Amino acid sequence: MTTTTDDLVPVAGEAAPADPDAAGTAIEGAAPDAVCAAAVDVARAAAVEEAGEAVGEHLGAVSDGDRIATHLFACLDRAYRGWRWGVQVVRAARAKDVTVTGVYRLPGPDALLSPEWVPWADRVRPGDLGVGDLLPAAPDDDRLALAIEDVESDVPLIEWGLGRPRVLSFVGRVEAAERWYDGEAGPDVPQARQAPAPCVSCGFYLPLSGALGLGFGACTNEFSPDDGRVVAIDHGCGAHSEGSADVAAMGVAPALVDEFTFEVVDEPPVEGPAEEPPAGDAAPAE
Ligand code: SF4
Repeated sequence: MTTTTDDLVPVAGEAAPADPDAAGTAIEGAAPDAVCAAAVDVARAAAVEEAGEAVGEHLGAVSDGDRIATHLFACLDRAYRGWRWGVQVVRAARAKDVTVTGVYRLPGPDALLSPEWVPWADRVRPGDLGVGDLLPAAPDDDRLALAIEDVESDVPLIEWGLGRPRVLSFVGRVEAAERWYDGEAGPDVPQARQAPAPCVSCGFYLPLSGALGLGFGACTNEFSPDDGRVVAIDHGCGAHSEGSADVAAMGVAPALVDEFTFEVVDEPPVEGPAEEPPAGDAAPAE
């Protein structure tokens, strides 16, 4: 059964039609079977038997197929806000009565739903690891490759393991490079765009070894916000080792005087002898 509340069709009238097979007289859209649609009382009784007083007003009916319909009732259970009771009824060919086949709860458009299920393996996110936590890489983690495979495969040798059973794989390198380049260490952050020159020409730029060294290095300038971090060759910051030459070439910036705004201050009241009111302003005698 594939009924959803998005398929809800309002019932305009709930009286059983004279002709059981006359379809479409009480229901708009994909009209359910007329007898099934009219069996509101039967459906309500089934819902009440299942849920008691938690069954609210009739919200409509939807066709589930030939002579099969689902009636929807508001769910008054406070633990299921926005949900609905669905009661499916069916009618045999040429029969005038319906049979209830099931009562169940359906989420409405405003229903409070649990978050989408996320497999345990995908739940740990960057930054989740705390002090003392353990998170070893899975045996099939494609960011890593067996060092011996790198030697024996046709893929150009990435690096020797040198005692490590696994080394960063080609996939791991590409992912790291893309992540770094698109992040704070890349060329598109405001700090890099306003830098006097890129990292590649900075004396504090220390290239990484291996293939990643073609695009990334470590910043070793303690006055840079990127000190100790991996940066892209076209990243940059104001602490570029040769940036002073550009500053000198720019000359001294003119002083800026703000002439367009002013500040309102509260002045203390001036103390002194009270002024005599003008003669014409004297209060009239009573
Ligand atoms: S000091 Fe600035 S320009 Fe130099 S390597 Fe570090 S981030 Fe790049």
